Amino acid sequence: MGTRTKLIAGNWKMFTNTAVARQLAGAVVQGLGKETRVQVALCPPFTYLSVVSSLLRGTAVALGAQNVYPEREGAFTGEISPAMLLDVGCKYVIIGHSERRQVLGETDAFINRKVKAALEAGLYVILCVGETQAERESLQMEEVFERQTVGALDGVPSSLLPRLVVAYEPVWAIGTGKTATPDQAQDAHVLLRKYMAKMFGEEPAQALPILYGGSVKPENIVALMQKPDVDGALVGGASLKVDQFLTIIRAAL
Ligand code: PEP
Repeated sequence: MGTRTKLIAGNWKMFTNTAVARQLAGAVVQGLGKETRVQVALCPPFTYLSVVSSLLRGTAVALGAQNVYPEREGAFTGEISPAMLLDVGCKYVIIGHSERRQVLGETDAFINRKVKAALEAGLYVILCVGETQAERESLQMEEVFERQTVGALDGVPSSLLPRLVVAYEPVWAIGTGKTATPDQAQDAHVLLRKYMAKMFGEEPAQALPILYGGSVKPENIVALMQKPDVDGALVGGASLKVDQFLTIIRAAL
């Protein structure tokens, strides 16, 4: 994968509590030691960002959030701004996760506002894209990828691309135990890179890290990471189990 930075990000979703968040973050930091060949990020729920941030300070493990609202501040009850995430110590934010698209009705236009606001504020964005089972079966992957990438990145200046990461997360593989085969992941990543090149040019597209996400486990990460366009993983369930998460990280070294 050339010089692209490898990233393993743990999406804790709506799991953990204060004690578990402390325990998980502490164990990841300890298990990783001074390892810096791969960037690791932990994305706890908003309520535990602060406690995890304290534990990660001064370590090689970065903090990420699972969502953000695309305004600087204001009367937006219940929402969190990019500046607030930076203030609590976040480097990354996950945007466009399929659970938010499907359960909370997020559109490409809304995701686009979030991506722009987060990048402009100085956050690194992990933009999730991916097709449903029905879209794959009806051979609509190209349209879906184009709609989601163009939709999310419309109006994003090239100067902000170095802080963008794309995560290919086939919806049918998230939390289901089904994983894309390494070849399916590789093909999808190449396709996504093609749309990125169409929008931003070949060089930025080649420099863009593309993660795979969808039931990543110690058993499948090695084969996935051997593919030249798989630059890391966005890990849900397995990031809540320290041993599994550390094994996944080590496979990316
Ligand atoms: C995710 O939440 O982004 C994810 C890929 O979940 P899981 O690894 O549990 O499929």
